[in-house]
Amino acid sequence: MKIAIEGCCHSELDAIYRELKRQEEKTQSQVDVLLIAGDFQAVRNEADLACLSVPEKYRKLGDFSSYYSGEKKAPVLTIFVGGNHEASNYLWELYYGGWVCPNIYYMGAANIINIGGLRVGGISGIYKEKNYTKGHFEKVPYNMESLKSVYHVREFEVCKLLNTGRTKPIDIFLSHDWPRGIEKHGDLKRLLSIKPYFFNDIQNNCLGSAANERLMNELQPAYWFSAHLHVKFEAIKIHNVYENWKENMVEMVKENPDEIDLNDEDDKVITKIEASHKITRFLALDKCLPGRHFLEILDIPTPHEVNEKPILSYDVDWLAICRVFHPYFSIEYQQPSLPWDNAYLAREIEKEKEWVYDHIVQLHGLEIPQHFEHTAPVVGNAFSAYPPPLYNNPQTEAFCKML
Ligand code: 5GP
Ligand code: MN
Repeated sequence: MKIAIEGCCHSELDAIYRELKRQEEKTQSQVDVLLIAGDFQAVRNEADLACLSVPEKYRKLGDFSSYYSGEKKAPVLTIFVGGNHEASNYLWELYYGGWVCPNIYYMGAANIINIGGLRVGGISGIYKEKNYTKGHFEKVPYNMESLKSVYHVREFEVCKLLNTGRTKPIDIFLSHDWPRGIEKHGDLKRLLSIKPYFFNDIQNNCLGSAANERLMNELQPAYWFSAHLHVKFEAIKIHNVYENWKENMVEMVKENPDEIDLNDEDDKVITKIEASHKITRFLALDKCLPGRHFLEILDIPTPHEVNEKPILSYDVDWLAICRVFHPYFSIEYQQPSLPWDNAYLAREIEKEKEWVYDHIVQLHGLEIPQHFEHTAPVVGNAFSAYPPPLYNNPQTEAFCKML
């Protein structure tokens, strides 16, 4: 499947689709799906601008409003996670994921979905330790503080995601901020020559998200895509070997003396290591600006050939996990303490998977319905009073009724 990856979007959809078309023509290929790693800015109208955390000079309606109004249509299936510049009120409406306009799907605060046969996970927001263990307490209208904390990642979502790797592997994971420490698994010298001011954070091991680091280590997806730091960066994380893989080659040669030859070129060595170790290929891209590396097309093998548009479907394990964790879901400041006992969780998830088979797989099937509906007026209309959260969007209401 041909997958395009975009770094930070900042509502520049016209430029992104133009660049996508240019690269498609250049490579004579057709992209099946575009993944966007946050700062999407799904601002529908002027009222949403109040819910966007940006410096004043950027507080403008972007391209998205024309896609929301129906004036323009996304030319390729587009899927995104949230970052730190978002219409947070709108993304909250679609907490479990949903269509923000035709052909553009938001993954929700956290999600695992199936895209044309690939198991794709995602987490929205950025990591800030001080808000990590709180509930989703932020209410519209946001104040100066909640306007920012609303996009901070919560442990609740991370705890759910940590339970998704138990039985089936994850092919792709999307996050806005980088997994902490990933810079050590790529060309760090080059990164520092472009972004010298990362030096202190790297030395203090605080560049990137601690939550994403844990998710990457435990879920070990084949690919991980991020944005936020405004630079293209590639890395390869080899799991279950300590520290930097190059320095540990000697250990690996000892483990696999027949398979690894230190005289091979890097990519040959990696291919061989892949056979015996799980690896994650990490790619971060820049924000959408002329002359920057903000879009890349990858060809990722799928279990079945994708002929038509790839189909989006729910992940059975994820639906079961949503049911197991629902009693802990909090829209208050306080987050009830979370379940961490793996044996207990595995049992509960198995139980709920049976419920999901009986009540969802059998009755509706797993395909994600394409039932986008407008929930706010399009550009130009005043719109101030938002109904209470979570059930004010018919897509979220349908999801909650189903589950
Ligand atoms: P945004 O586009 O989300 O407003 O901000 C991203 C910018 O903040 C990037 O230019 C990035 O370099 C910087 N940034 C974000 N997180 C960190 C961090 O943890 N350390 C450092 N040094 N810079 C960061
Ligand atoms: Mn950002």
